[in-house]
Amino acid sequence: MLDFQNVSFQYPGDGAPTVDGLSFHVDRGEFVCLVGPSGCGKSTVFRLICQLLRPSGGRILVGGRSIDGQKNYCGYMPQSDLLFPWRTVEENIRLPLEIRGGRSRQEMDALTAQALRTVGLDGWGKRSPSELSGGMRQRAAFARTTLTGSELLLLDEPFSALDYLTRLAMREWLLDQWQRERKTVLFITHDVEEAIFLSGRVLAAEGSPIGRLASFPVPLGYPRTVESLGRPEALALKRQLIAMLRRREP
Ligand code: ADP
Ligand code: MG
Repeated sequence: MLDFQNVSFQYPGDGAPTVDGLSFHVDRGEFVCLVGPSGCGKSTVFRLICQLLRPSGGRILVGGRSIDGQKNYCGYMPQSDLLFPWRTVEENIRLPLEIRGGRSRQEMDALTAQALRTVGLDGWGKRSPSELSGGMRQRAAFARTTLTGSELLLLDEPFSALDYLTRLAMREWLLDQWQRERKTVLFITHDVEEAIFLSGRVLAAEGSPIGRLASFPVPLGYPRTVESLGRPEALALKRQLIAMLRRREP
């Protein structure tokens, strides 16, 4: 589904590259978490995938084809939810449909209503984002991301600003969505436990610049519960990941 082939990137004016010869592969339908210390370049990797930034070297493929010239191949949910405050919840959610065009108003209404129901926000469409709780806003932003229609979803620390219990509920909710839709999900987090709970595989940045991602299969099946995290094999992976990430701190 996604291939990085020796990809490099340097922000203009920065003395050193942020991404340096990075190669990795994600299969269709996988749920992969990308973990690494803050500032190591995780969000930059997402911006490269959705062409907000252009690599200075290497190739990025989606579905086996270079992303150059491709459109609508990924849904990107940036680090903060970024719902537009002057649009209602449903006007926010339908935005990707408007941008993409080619659909009648009725079709867009129907798709938007369905997305609202899917994320449990039936009846909230006419409200302003400020009337929603943090968890509800994240679900609305997620609904908007899925309406891009893309098979590849890029979620950048979507739950990090939520309180602990809401975060737990949102993780279960997201896994439920994924098990139903089986899209390919790439999910950034700096929370090792969150990565183990959600993903089939964890990609860990071994340092900054991102040049290599170590791949750790998660030894847990689906469906998962919070209790799954207490299993010895999950705890062993957690220790291994924390040890690896800590080695990188100055
Ligand atoms: P992460 O998401 O892992 O926390 P980022 O990808 O946001 O890391 O940033 C990686 C590095 O690139 C950081 O050192 C950051 O300061 C730098 N950086 C991020 N955005 C820009 C920018 N627009 N211009 C210059 N440097 C940037
Ligand atoms: Mg980031």
